[in-house]
Formats: sequence, C-alpha cells, structure tokens
Amino acid sequence: MFKGKDEIIASEFRSYSLHNFKTIPQIQKLNPELIKNIEVVGNVLPFKVNNYVIDELIDWNNIPEDPIYVLTFPQKEMLLPHHYKLIEDLLDKGASREEIKNAANEIRHQLNPHPAGQLEHNVPKLDDQRLKGMQHKYRETVLFFPSQGQTCHAYCTFCFRWPQFVGMNEFKFAMKESELLVKYLKENPEATDVLFTGGDPLVMKTKLLSAYIDALLSGDIPNLKTIRIGTKALAYWPYRFLTDNDAKELLDLFKKVSDSGIHLAIMAHFNHPKELDTEAVKIATAELRKTGAQIRTQSPVLKHINDSPDVWAEMWRKQVDLGMIPYYMFVARDTGAQDYFAVPLVRAWEIFRGAYQKVSGVCRTVRGPSMSCTPGKVQILGVGEIGEQKVLTMRMIQGRNPDWAARPFFAEYDEKAIWLDELKPAFGQEKFFFEDELAQIFRESISTEESENLE
Ligand SMILES: *Cc1c(COP(=O)(O)O)cnc(C)c1O
Ligand code: SF4
Repeated sequence: MFKGKDEIIASEFRSYSLHNFKTIPQIQKLNPELIKNIEVVGNVLPFKVNNYVIDELIDWNNIPEDPIYVLTFPQKEMLLPHHYKLIEDLLDKGASREEIKNAANEIRHQLNPHPAGQLEHNVPKLDDQRLKGMQHKYRETVLFFPSQGQTCHAYCTFCFRWPQFVGMNEFKFAMKESELLVKYLKENPEATDVLFTGGDPLVMKTKLLSAYIDALLSGDIPNLKTIRIGTKALAYWPYRFLTDNDAKELLDLFKKVSDSGIHLAIMAHFNHPKELDTEAVKIATAELRKTGAQIRTQSPVLKHINDSPDVWAEMWRKQVDLGMIPYYMFVARDTGAQDYFAVPLVRAWEIFRGAYQKVSGVCRTVRGPSMSCTPGKVQILGVGEIGEQKVLTMRMIQGRNPDWAARPFFAEYDEKAIWLDELKPAFGQEKFFFEDELAQIFRESISTEESENLE
C-alpha cells in the first residue's frame, strides 16, 4: 500500500519553458546537441514542463528515448528538416526575435493548426450570436472552454491544441460568461453533458472553477446529468489535488457536485504507465475517488511514446488497479508534429487488439482506436476478409448526425493510411455513407453564415 495523504510533502510548482529551460539541472548535463534541438524546435512548437515531470516522471538515465522526455521536450524530428534548418540558421546568425517569430508563424501555418473543421462548424449559437467559448458537435455533449483554463501544467509535444499555446490568438476559443452556457443548455434540452476542457481547466484556481460549476448547479437545468472535466493534472501535477493551497477546496467542490446528484466524470489524460507510478498520483487518485467522482482515462497512440501493446495493457491494468475506467484510445490528430507521432490506422488497431487480448474484461471498457474527424468519432474495428478482399472495418462511435452512431462501414485495406481522408470506400463504392449528408450539413451552415454577414 502507499502512504497516506498527510505524508506527502508539499511540492511547489515550478514551470520551465523556452526562456529558462537551461536552468534545469538535469538539462545542464545533457549533450549540447539535444539542448540545441530543444531550443530550435521550441521556437516553433509550444513547450512547457514543470518540476514534477522533471523530478518524478522522466528517467534522465534514458535520454533521449525516455517516453516522458519525448512527450514534453521538443525533439529535432518533430520539425521537417528544412523547417528545422530555417530556425537553426536564424538562431545561429543571431536574428532578431521578430524575425524568428515571423519564420515560426510561417511554419506553424503549414502545420494544419485547426484539424477536423473545429473552428467553423462546431460553434453553437444562441439568439443568433455565435458562442465562441463552446463547441457543440455531438447532440448530448457541449464542450466548454473557460477562458482562464486554456493552458496546462505542462505541454504535450503531440497536442492538437498547440495553436492556442503559442499566441495565435485568432484561434483561441475563449468565453468569460458561464451565464451563456447555462442559457444555452436550457435551450438545448437534448444536451445532458457539459465537458470542461482547454488546455486544462484544472490549472484554474478552485475559486474560478467553482464560479463556473456553481452556475451550473444553481442554474436549474433539468437536462444536465453529467459534468465532465478533461484534465491532465493527475499526470502532470497531482499536487493539484493534494498540497496546492486550494486543493482541499477543489475536492470539496467535486464532492458538492456528486452530492447534488450530478455525475462528475474526470476525463483524465494518461499517455504512459509511468505516469501512474508515483506516490503523488496514487494518493491524488484515491482522494479524487473519495469525492464520488469517476475517473475515465484516454490517450492517443503515439510513436516514440506508447506504440506497443504491452505499454497499453500495462497502462489499462494500472488504471483499473487505481480505480479508474479506461475509456478511449485515440489516433493522433493530423496536426502539429503528426509525422513524428503518427501511427498508421492498421498498426493502431494491432496495438489495440494486442493490448486488449492481454487484459481481462474489467479493462475492456476502453474503445478505440478512434479518430476524431469531421463526420464524427470513427473507430477502427479491424482488418477483415470478405471473399477474397481485405477490408478495414470501421464504425462511427459518435456522429455529427446522431443517426450515424454505431453504423459499420468499410474501406479498402491500406496499411499506410493514417487518417480517414486517405481511405477509399471498399467494394467499388464512390463514397462513404455519410459523405453526401455531411456536405449538405456544411452547405447549410455556410449559407446561414453568409446571410448573416450580409446583414
Ligand atoms: C469525444 C467528443 C465528445 C464526447 O464524446 P463521448 O463519446 O460522449 O465521450 C464531445 N464532443 C466532441 C467534439 C468530442 O470530440
Ligand atoms: S495536457 Fe492535454 S491540452 Fe495540455 S498539452 Fe497535453 S494533450 Fe494538450
């Protein structure tokens, strides 16, 4: 058994990024080439770590392969060689900050900063006003981006939310008023879930978070059944629940939600079993569970970090041992350093299947591998043979049209494809079943936006 909560020694949050990472003692011992890689790539992709990640998660005897090091520190191969060279040359010749920033922005714009039509198509409306701090793609669940929760305790190098961390402000979904959220939920009674997301909403002080949550609890919204909070705090800063000066208030807030009869789901991001090993994460998990919250876990499959069945089986098993519920395995999004992390769909399915076979039913609550793409969440069910033909079988877990959910469909076998748009429908079909309707949905949303612009 592990220690009690009271034996945990308070740890003070220290954050490192491009401007001060060279002061990290462990970094000073690294090979200068690795330090340079961090500097060059860190000028383009966002980069932030903290003392917990450095002191308790990364194994500094295993650099550069250590999965948590790759997860948090920029690696040379995350940029295309010519992009790397461009920034390297600018740094070498002592270019101005302005010059470096312009070059970095140029590169960022080539990295598909907003995949899956997130910006245009999922922003809901209230009385004809677009609610920029929300997304509503699937009928039951409204995503809410509290404006003060758009950062994290550390940044993942694979993250698709990177545009909002590097000051590309036009991409920042932000909204101050929880009032609008309450109003929107009341007017959309089919929505049962609110998912607080970011960034990481648990970087917010408890006081701020409780302002949002209290608005929901006291909002008299009979359709609201579940409050979900998407967070990586258990992996990147478990002291958020233990020794931060408002940790107790946070746990009290969670208990208040559970006691009110609303299901509180912590959607916890874990990318590697190492993140489940420290005393701090174990005790934080136990404390969280005492509040009545359920912890559900998710992660993408990532090359260099977790692209093996053993790693996933170990991760699910450890999660269940701690009382968490494995929920999603995702395919890495087509954005940012995707080339570096990409795992082909067929390989992702092999990893899923390999891991699934190694664990008992209590771990098999997980669904995946799942791609969050424009029409919906698409699960790769596997490779099958129909007659003489090898096909990829898929199914929609969530659809932009709810009627698409749980519909199986087929694509030609393609070992290299890493995203839905690279797949061809099987059996000589011209389109996947959802394509016409999706185009129709988009035509409608664009034509209403255009007519608004005319007003
Ligand atoms: C995944 C996701 C949800 C939640 O889906 P569940 O299957 O209910 O967990 C909601 N909105 C968006 C945009 C999502 O990608
Ligand atoms: S914690 Fe989540 S939102 Fe933050 S960088 Fe990692 S994946 Fe992105």
